[in-house]
Amino acid sequence: MSSCSIVRCGRPLLAHEHRRRVCDRCANRVRGWLRELDLQRILLRVMLVPGSSGPATGSVHGGRAHSPMPARGDVLNFLGPGASSTLADPYGDARGDQDAGATIDATLHAWARATAEHIHPPDRPWLRPGRTWSAWLTAYLPWALSAPWIGDLHDELDDLVQQARGLTRTEPRRRPKDAPCPSCQAFGLVEEDWQPYIECTVCEALLTPDEYARHAQDVMPRLYRTALLIAARTEKQRRKEQAEST
Ligand SMILES: [Zn+2]
Ligand SMILES: [Zn+2]
Repeated sequence: MSSCSIVRCGRPLLAHEHRRRVCDRCANRVRGWLRELDLQRILLRVMLVPGSSGPATGSVHGGRAHSPMPARGDVLNFLGPGASSTLADPYGDARGDQDAGATIDATLHAWARATAEHIHPPDRPWLRPGRTWSAWLTAYLPWALSAPWIGDLHDELDDLVQQARGLTRTEPRRRPKDAPCPSCQAFGLVEEDWQPYIECTVCEALLTPDEYARHAQDVMPRLYRTALLIAARTEKQRRKEQAEST
């Protein structure tokens, strides 16, 4: 039986996961990271607006032409204004010009190239105006998930997301859900920012928000009724004991 290619996962693949090399949970994480990177990119761009990040170095009265740009160099480096000309190549050693660390777009573009070559060599990916490489990779994710390098893509996205969170000081929040898991019945369902699925922390089942809403609608009234019955019975018992003791 083959197992998930993500090193720190390695769980056996289910029948429907065999066409690709990763389990549902890891595929879901990759999809969530790509979505998060688009949101992080917006936050990072906001941080480059003069005066929005840390102490401004320019003077209000100094005039634009002469005041130094109060942009954060680390954010600028990570966003990579010259990204399209400094391609990283996940296949090889073409990273000589990437000494300052990979930028979001250079890394994502390189993986888009690798994906296009995996689907139909020697195709090159192209981007519609206004779209991002994260959106491109999300659209072609079913192919990327079946590529032999999916573990490397997973790790690089993990790295990009951690770097972005470090710069924007954002950590996704986890919120426990009220209804028990439909698979294992444990109260382990959690919803996490930017993740497309609600996940069970006990059995790792995944639910879309719609599936959860339907499930909660189905089980919660029964749970409330049971809770009310238990409360009523406890109260009855308490009164009986009280009556007996007086
Ligand atoms: Zn996995
Ligand atoms: Zn579960």
